[in-house]
Amino acid sequence: MAKIQMITPLVEMDGDEMTRILWKMIKDELILPFVDLKSEYYDLGLKHRDETDDKVTVESANATKRLGVAVKCATITPNAARVKEYDLKEMWKSPNGTIRAILDGTVFRKPILVKGIEPNVRTWKKPITIARHAYGDVYKNTEMIIDGPGKVELVYTDSKGNEKRSLVHEFKAAGIAQGVHNLDASIESFARACFEYALSQKEDLWFATKDTISKQYDHTFKDIFEEIYEKEYKQKFEEANITYFYTLIDDAVARVMKSEGGFIWACKNYDGDVMSDMLSSAFGSLAMMTSVLVSPDGCYEYEAAHGTVQRHYYKYLKGESTSSNSVATIFAWSGALRKRGELDNLPDLVDFANRLEKATLDTIESGKMTGDLGAISSLENIQVLNSEEFIHEIAKKLQ
Ligand code: NAD
Repeated sequence: MAKIQMITPLVEMDGDEMTRILWKMIKDELILPFVDLKSEYYDLGLKHRDETDDKVTVESANATKRLGVAVKCATITPNAARVKEYDLKEMWKSPNGTIRAILDGTVFRKPILVKGIEPNVRTWKKPITIARHAYGDVYKNTEMIIDGPGKVELVYTDSKGNEKRSLVHEFKAAGIAQGVHNLDASIESFARACFEYALSQKEDLWFATKDTISKQYDHTFKDIFEEIYEKEYKQKFEEANITYFYTLIDDAVARVMKSEGGFIWACKNYDGDVMSDMLSSAFGSLAMMTSVLVSPDGCYEYEAAHGTVQRHYYKYLKGESTSSNSVATIFAWSGALRKRGELDNLPDLVDFANRLEKATLDTIESGKMTGDLGAISSLENIQVLNSEEFIHEIAKKLQ
């Protein structure tokens, strides 16, 4: 069988631990036998990030700007324990944080629904997509431990040297403080990305902040969305018969729990971080969530929404059998290949991506699945497979 040809390479960002093991299995069994894969490979495994003083992460993000589509494996964000475990030169920053800061943009996370895995929330019938702003706020903060009495102020100095100040707090004793920021341009591109995505999916868009409490910071998000909607999207939304709906974040959470799903929920950076894990686990499993970062200049980075599955990796190292769910990582590959196919006008590549996803879902719906799904599936005759067996079964269906 002739392999499917590609034109532009994908940016391939390899990662850590169990997901690195799954990455190789997926490539060897589900991609390379079918596609003449063109990729520019960047090893974001922690060891190689350390060897390159984390330059490799920046290079991989720049390559994504140049080539347009990337697929990323989960990576370790080092903490003190990891610095010791890997004997690191430094506690390197989160690779996702670095990549998002370079690409800017919005992360869309959508649960993968499959027969036999019912959402924990009874009313949810359709997926809820989280659109997470990927720039700024607490992820680009500056923090300070306040040792004792004294005042903390925000000071802005313009290019002419004029100052604007506001008091954060008059400390009577020790405490903590932090400064966060965002940029109008980034919020504007976040808003446009959400409106465009809602139109492309023909789904309603919800957006929520805490503008009643944060009267300038969060209110700016609300205003920018409103203005762009009124000027650029209102008519298109009406024509597509979809709505844009703004409310307070606490009201949004309450409504989401009573909804049927089938809409896009735009969230500020931190809200999106928290809510996407809540949604993925309530829809079934962390490993059943797709994730794509869309940058304002039209670059796409596909990844799984979960981490490196550390616990399984230690079992794997001891030679024990693991049952890690590779679905989200497979969908990261299929998403990236499909997008590459669309951009390069390669219908065979698009078709392959669709078939890979169908083979994956058919495998689960036939009762063959990994342990995390086996524990919650309502299907009868479930066969729980280990990491390798599950990927073999998908490969058999693909052939
Ligand atoms: P994790 O997502 O790896 O695991 C959280 C829990 O979900 C664990 O109980 C795990 O067993 C389960 N789980 C997650 N994915 C699974 C899968 N595919 N199959 C079966 N079970 C699965 O998160 P963690 O344990 O908090 O973090 C482990 C490492 O991953 C950390 O070093 C962290 O920095 C990193 N991390 C990376 C990313 C990323 O690169 N996108 C995201 C989150 C965490």
